[in-house]
Amino acid sequence: MIAAALLLAAVAPVLAASNTDAVSVCQHLHTAYPQYTVWDPTGTYGLETFWNQSYYSNAVKEYWNGVNADNRPACAFFPATAQQVSVAVQQLNKYPTAPFALKGGGHNFNVGFSSTNGGVLISFNENMSSTTRNSDGQSFDIGPGARWGDVYAVTQKTNQVVGLACDNVVNFEVVLGNGTIINANSDSNPDLWWALRGGGNRFGIVTKFTLKAHPLGDNGQVWGGIRSYSADKREQIFEALSKFTSEYPDAKAAIIPTFEIGLPGALISNPAIFFFYDGAKPSANAFAGLEDIEPFTDSTNTTSYTNITNAAGGAKIYGINAAIHVNTFPNMPSQQMTQLLETHWTTYQSMIKNDSSRNLDLQLGTFTPQPLSVRIARASQNAGGNALGLDPANGDRIWVENDLIWLNPACNDACPGYLHEVGDTVKEAFNNTLLGTKPTNYQSGDVDWISSNPLFMNDAANYQDVYGSYGPTNKARLASIAKAYDPTGFMFRQGGWSF
Ligand SMILES: Cc1cc2nc3c(=O)[nH]c(=O)nc-3n(C[C@H](O)[C@H](O)[C@H](O)COP(=O)(O)OP(=O)(O)OC[C@H]3O[C@@H](n4cnc5c(N)ncnc54)[C@H](O)[C@@H]3O)c2cc1C
Repeated sequence: MIAAALLLAAVAPVLAASNTDAVSVCQHLHTAYPQYTVWDPTGTYGLETFWNQSYYSNAVKEYWNGVNADNRPACAFFPATAQQVSVAVQQLNKYPTAPFALKGGGHNFNVGFSSTNGGVLISFNENMSSTTRNSDGQSFDIGPGARWGDVYAVTQKTNQVVGLACDNVVNFEVVLGNGTIINANSDSNPDLWWALRGGGNRFGIVTKFTLKAHPLGDNGQVWGGIRSYSADKREQIFEALSKFTSEYPDAKAAIIPTFEIGLPGALISNPAIFFFYDGAKPSANAFAGLEDIEPFTDSTNTTSYTNITNAAGGAKIYGINAAIHVNTFPNMPSQQMTQLLETHWTTYQSMIKNDSSRNLDLQLGTFTPQPLSVRIARASQNAGGNALGLDPANGDRIWVENDLIWLNPACNDACPGYLHEVGDTVKEAFNNTLLGTKPTNYQSGDVDWISSNPLFMNDAANYQDVYGSYGPTNKARLASIAKAYDPTGFMFRQGGWSF
């Protein structure tokens, strides 16, 4: 046994420097919940939970951004109930220097947001990931560790689906920074309910989401899949994207366009569009002409929702080295939109390349323009609004997600900065040539401000000012709600953005 532990210690990628307060918290959790707490197998107490060390190893390894896996918590705790989370919070309060991290699916791009080196990892996927239909049939209770594929497998049994966006959360069950368990909804703690919809991890630990149910497709049948295109089709796609975002002909239609530029010399440069229609067959012109552009591969068909989400990347992929950066732009008429997106294309072509000085070897850069139409802002307002403060009068915008993935871990430090340069280069080009162009469907608002804000938290890098992008009023409101519900700043002991 001891020899095995020594061997493990020898091959561990990073020896965790466990925080002594974190060790004290782990000791308590291990005593109270021995079946739900696993020590770092390479640490001092590793032998105590040697028999179930695979739970620890998997929790530490299963991050989409593999750079997180270098972080080794002192122990991993896999709670099964809100009460157990509350006990962990109370213990963490007794040991104020113990860092901690909350892990749902481990899909956030930013290193250290859902991982911790030497702290306490509270991981929800293992024991708090169930999906249950409520008796009224109008909503589902979902655990904080659930993955969408598992959620849809349940909801599609009754030809239902739950809204993806924060606007569809009817109730959050939350463990506050002092261990109290409360609910946040439109009647109880409505300010916390508002803050949790778009405000991130600074308010409390969510132990259950109740999400509104919607009917799904035609008796559960939906249409969609991925089409990829030769590079010369990009201009047609840019133009149609502008039209799709401004006209949004059919609320049942959705797209995720991705432009990939990769390998030395940008040899692979292809647009691809993920199409989705919430019905067995799209209505005429549902995609504003995007559907008429000739692809060279096409997997669109009529199928089930889980098949579609799997096609969009539902598979569990771990260990990619990755960085992200998001920019907000106005959606503009076709000509200006083409200019902006062509600037992205050429910037990626010139900047995503072999560069030995940056330790870039095999790399893939992608940019993904995501329509933020006034339709979405209207739906958000109708559902009570959220922390992003979307106003339909501001017109249509797009979020452009920029990603870089690479193989060589020697680039783990420099590569995120490299993508940052790419994101800033396109933003600067926009500011120099197109700033002041009114968004389509614009009615009112400061054009310069709405042309760069808000940023989409799920696509934002750790150095981006997400809360500032919600505007000074919303940022101040978020800060005061955090102070009211978490006066000691407990939630700030983990990674995340600051006010
Ligand atoms: C390939 C890929 C595609 C993506 N596509 C999309 C997309 O189409 N749309 C989209 O919106 N996003 C997308 N994202 C972004 C992703 O949805 C977000 O990063 C999201 O945070 C991931 O959720 P998670 O549970 O896996 O997060 P984790 O990495 O586990 O955690 C993320 C954050 O949530 C906090 N957190 C975790 N659990 C709790 C809890 N119980 N209570 C309070 N805070 C908690 C953590 O502190 C952390 O800051 C994509 C990401 C990847 C890698």
